[in-house]
Amino acid sequence: MVDLAGKKGLVLGIANEDSIAYGCAEAYRRAGAELAVTYLNEKARPHVAPLAENLDARIFEPCDVREPGQLENVFDRIRETWGKLDFVLHAIAYAPKADLHARVTDCSAAGFMQAMDISCHSFIRVARQAEPLMTDGGCLQTVTFYGSERVVTAYNLMGPVKAALESSVRYLAAELGEKDIRVHALSPGPLKTRAASGLQRFDELLERARQEAPEHRLVTTGDVGNVAAFLASDSARGMTGNIAYVDAGMHIMS
Ligand code: NAD
Repeated sequence: MVDLAGKKGLVLGIANEDSIAYGCAEAYRRAGAELAVTYLNEKARPHVAPLAENLDARIFEPCDVREPGQLENVFDRIRETWGKLDFVLHAIAYAPKADLHARVTDCSAAGFMQAMDISCHSFIRVARQAEPLMTDGGCLQTVTFYGSERVVTAYNLMGPVKAALESSVRYLAAELGEKDIRVHALSPGPLKTRAASGLQRFDELLERARQEAPEHRLVTTGDVGNVAAFLASDSARGMTGNIAYVDAGMHIMS
């Protein structure tokens, strides 16, 4: 039984109940953690507010990582309310559609930088903000995809972006390990979420995963959440810098 009783966690990236972040948040909560939840902007707020309520989130703040001061404000609220933090989930990604649908060969510098800033560098900023609050150690988690390592049709620009994110996980893990802060990326198989709907030929990816993954099934956000909760718990001490595949085994297939 995973135990997160007494732990405080921040969840970034809930858009709706299909979000990977929501599946993870439910699992953390079931294991007894108290949560802080963010929403992207006023348009997103009515969709996220009832979910934050289901999670009994005491802290509910806007956070667009592109808006100066918003991420810092979330951490200020955590400092005032809890004075400490035990884990963070960063489940955020974005790429402009024109660049995402283009060949990597053709993607624009501006689109590449925007995707990299929102989907990768923001995790580094999260780590920097979290470090002083993780006084008893902690766990930083982000979410990646196997298209970082192998060419997955239509994943395009997000392949190099996720490769940078995974490398950042390893460097952050090496730098923060002496403070007992562990860093991981969860690597789920394809899941029908809003972000995924921006990918072309996504239904083919789902079908391929269903047919070819060793477990011959699609994973759920609940599957991802169970692993996320375990990694955030003290039972997972001794593990850091991992890419934790939750993909029914798809990553081992050629
Ligand atoms: P989702 O659409 O539910 O979540 C994406 C989140 O990113 C949303 O909450 C959105 O508000 C947030 N976001 C986008 N731009 C932002 C910004 N500027 N500031 C703050 N937040 C911003 O989709 P999801 O599939 O749950 O995505 C979560 C993570 O999982 C992403 O990193 C995605 O790449 C990754 N992932 C998804 C799949 C999949 O098949 N769905 C597979 C592997 C990895």
